[in-house]
Amino acid sequence: MGIPHVLAIPYPAQGHVIPMMELLQRFAKQGFKVTCVNTEFIHKRVMQALHEKDGDLVDMIHMTSIPDGLGPSDDRNDFVKALKAIFEVMPRKLEELIEMINETDDNKITCLLADENIGWAFKVAEKFGIKKVAFWPASTALLATSFSVPKLIEDKIINSNDGTIRKHQTISLSENMPAINTENLVWTCFPDLETQKTVFDVIVKTNAFVKLADFIICNSAYELEPAAFTLFPNLLSIGPLIATNQLGNQVGHFWPEDSTCLKWLDQQPVSSVIYVAFGSFTVFDPVQFQELALGLEQTNMSFLWVVRPDMTDEMNEAYPKGFIDRVGSRGRMVGWAPQEKVLRHPSVACFLSHCGWNSTIEGVSNGVPFLCWPYFADQFLNESYICDVWKVGVGFDKDESGLIRQSEIKNKVEHLLGDEQFKARVLDLKDKVVNSVKGQGCSNKNLRRIIDWMK
Ligand code: UDP
Repeated sequence: MGIPHVLAIPYPAQGHVIPMMELLQRFAKQGFKVTCVNTEFIHKRVMQALHEKDGDLVDMIHMTSIPDGLGPSDDRNDFVKALKAIFEVMPRKLEELIEMINETDDNKITCLLADENIGWAFKVAEKFGIKKVAFWPASTALLATSFSVPKLIEDKIINSNDGTIRKHQTISLSENMPAINTENLVWTCFPDLETQKTVFDVIVKTNAFVKLADFIICNSAYELEPAAFTLFPNLLSIGPLIATNQLGNQVGHFWPEDSTCLKWLDQQPVSSVIYVAFGSFTVFDPVQFQELALGLEQTNMSFLWVVRPDMTDEMNEAYPKGFIDRVGSRGRMVGWAPQEKVLRHPSVACFLSHCGWNSTIEGVSNGVPFLCWPYFADQFLNESYICDVWKVGVGFDKDESGLIRQSEIKNKVEHLLGDEQFKARVLDLKDKVVNSVKGQGCSNKNLRRIIDWMK
């Protein structure tokens, strides 16, 4: 008999691949053989962005790929096309991969670990009679929302055929969870009805597929979202999976990290820098981009700003005239930062964030207060946790034209940093979550339980 062999399949998006890779490093260190299967498109990007320092990782985790059914130049943000192709092509390709590994490897696949969004993979795993674990990388409250679709239909909040909203309102899944605006449900966020319906259908199908999994593990801590874990007690918290908690390196990036900004941070005084980052998807309207730049300039503080090469349509013209010269060395712009290390750096005073779940738990785990700038789906729910439940950040108000103005940015930075309670509360929350992934902490005990069962 060989050693237990985990085959892991992340959902093909940045915020899904990074935490899955983090989890896989933990499994590899526990003596599992680990194979990670990305789509060919993502595999290429991850391998290209790997740094020399990540050599150990490639030894620890076997990285492989299967096609996603799309051509090289197809738009992978076209959800209708991408999801259709995935469902048509990937299940068969995954099955062939497992057959090939089982024929050629002394260590046959014993467990399939799939992103919850790839629930169809559990159907494939059933054929092979192997263990099945679903991994949920976002907030547990968000998964609770997907699992509540039947109740939303029963309560006549949404239509059963396509998920469209019957009446705009805010809904609460439980008394102790923040209210969600029906316009910010994952599927209702998309502007066109066809995409809304496609995403809704996938959620409904996935809710059924995931019932096949033996366990559903979540990249969250009970201490962060007790009400969501109470609502669905079958969900196990195992997070936050943060590389710095393990003194390791975060891997799985789609862009190469610009580590020179760490040296720049070394030169800044303690708690003096605003870190600004909007994750892997956000695209800015050019006017809003300029307001943000001018707002940062107005704060008179130093700032480290992640400006991805694809962040606005007109990158060359993006900055306001004279901005780069005026801010000089107090403003540092990079294409992609080693975010976890940045957030751990003592020079960082606050995190201006789009509130993606990974960014949220990374900020909390490093005790950094937030300025919240959500723009899509669950980011609004995460903002509610940050501002209203944990009270470790503030949001921005838009003006009548829907823009966040430079003066608003300056005022909120001053408000956040002028009130020491934000920092005190985030440090307190940091202690709670860091303890959860250690020793007798809840997340650590759950992860140990899963590891023992998988062995
Ligand atoms: N990230 C990074 N460097 C950057 C910006 C983001 O390493 O310059 C990482 C960040 O640490 C997080 C992930 O990319 O782990 C983004 O995930 P999140 O859920 O915050 O946002 P999404 O990209 O899914 O909207």
